[in-house]
Amino acid sequence: MDENFINIWEKALEILKDETSQIAYKTYIEVMVPRIIDKNTICFLAPSGYHIEVCNKRYLDLIENTLKYLTSVDYKITFEAKDAIPEEGEEENLDVEIIKGQYGNIDVNNNSQIINNNPSVDVKTLKENAGLNPRYSFDNFIIGTNNRFAQATAYSVSQNLGLTNPLYIYGGVGLGKTHLMQAIGNAIIDKDPTKRVIYCTGELFVNELIKAMLNPSMNDSFKKKFRNVDLLLIDDVQIIAGKDKCQEEFFHTFNSLFESGKQIVLTSEKPPKEINGLEDRLKTRFSMGVSVDIQTPDYETRFAILKKKAEEERYLIDDEVLVKVATRVKSNVRELEGVFNKLMAYTKFTNSPLTDAVVDNIIESILVKNSKVLSSKLIMQVVAKFFNINVSDLTSDKRSNTIALPRQIAMYLCREVADMSFPAIGKDFGGRDHSTVLHAYSKIKDAYDSNTDTKDLIDDIKKTLERES
Ligand code: ADP
Ligand code: MG
Repeated sequence: MDENFINIWEKALEILKDETSQIAYKTYIEVMVPRIIDKNTICFLAPSGYHIEVCNKRYLDLIENTLKYLTSVDYKITFEAKDAIPEEGEEENLDVEIIKGQYGNIDVNNNSQIINNNPSVDVKTLKENAGLNPRYSFDNFIIGTNNRFAQATAYSVSQNLGLTNPLYIYGGVGLGKTHLMQAIGNAIIDKDPTKRVIYCTGELFVNELIKAMLNPSMNDSFKKKFRNVDLLLIDDVQIIAGKDKCQEEFFHTFNSLFESGKQIVLTSEKPPKEINGLEDRLKTRFSMGVSVDIQTPDYETRFAILKKKAEEERYLIDDEVLVKVATRVKSNVRELEGVFNKLMAYTKFTNSPLTDAVVDNIIESILVKNSKVLSSKLIMQVVAKFFNINVSDLTSDKRSNTIALPRQIAMYLCREVADMSFPAIGKDFGGRDHSTVLHAYSKIKDAYDSNTDTKDLIDDIKKTLERES
């Protein structure tokens, strides 16, 4: 290598270091080894085809201009993968080996950009650090009439960060909201590992904020962590409703990202205006971009999802069985997957064929398990445990406040979560009249909508119910 050019390149690196982010510099610029092809052409050896793609797209002009600024020569710049050109000398070889491991890594917990010198830090680790599960991709997301628009919008967001802001995905449980949201994050990191992505559930956001509030020294890093990203994914954002401090903090986080053109993606069970206890200013902001919903999948989509799973797992299973599962398991994809996994486990562990009876049993076991949450018995057990009273107290005639309030809450939950009729609830609660149930329901509903403490308490019970089911 020409001594002169080594000096020039060293100077160029100093300029490029200032012109790019620390991570981009370490990941893409510093790792390149220049080689003079002729007096006007420089070929840079890059560690991988991916580096070449990124450099061509983003840094070619910058490098050309910098060299021109330093030398007044219009260099033609090309990039080659390291292996494509035979090595010249041992020294250079060594350089490439040493710098190969310098991949950028963002540690979301520390909020600082850490350059990781460990060669094993790869896209997988970056995803983990961002809170993403690499299993969720656009490739394995089946498109059906129930999610076509949501999928198309999510995909376009992954192609153009910041244009559709925020993207708000809503719909019932187990329909693919988390999958789509994480697919955006995974696609972004695949495309550009220097992008800072955070995936966080609303619940985690609340917990972290509380921790930061209790410990003022963490306050600053909490703010930085969530405001210093290119893509913020908040899953089940409805949980912040009714929590004043969280809404306040999220409002500022939202504004800060929005104003700097950073992408925000939110999911929730309901459209913004239907979330009880969500501040108006947040409702307005959440509705500023595009809201898309996901409905329950139709038969064709359910069947296609099962087929895709079988293909991914290389599990040989008769279409007939898949037809049966797709016909009977209707409400959500999580249940479909539950049945599928059980069928696969059966085949694997027993090595015997799936008879009709076995398939029926497995379907029943999943459907019954999931409807368990719908039974008043489970609700009573959870509520009694929560208030430290006996289940029998709930169905008794006792009227003391320590019993009456939990009873009313349990009745409310039977209606709200289990969708039971008022007379059916009355019957299960010691043969009470339906008007008594109606009264209890309205009273608790009002309290839920108007009082943050009640809302938090009932939400906690709901969460326990979900876990127990
Ligand atoms: P939600 O967040 O809406 O509750 P998830 O995204 O967790 O639902 O989806 C539940 C499960 O179903 C996940 O394992 C997800 O991968 C799968 N799933 C949902 N929709 C689809 C789809 N259209 N194609 C493939 N898998 C899906
Ligand atoms: Mg989810």
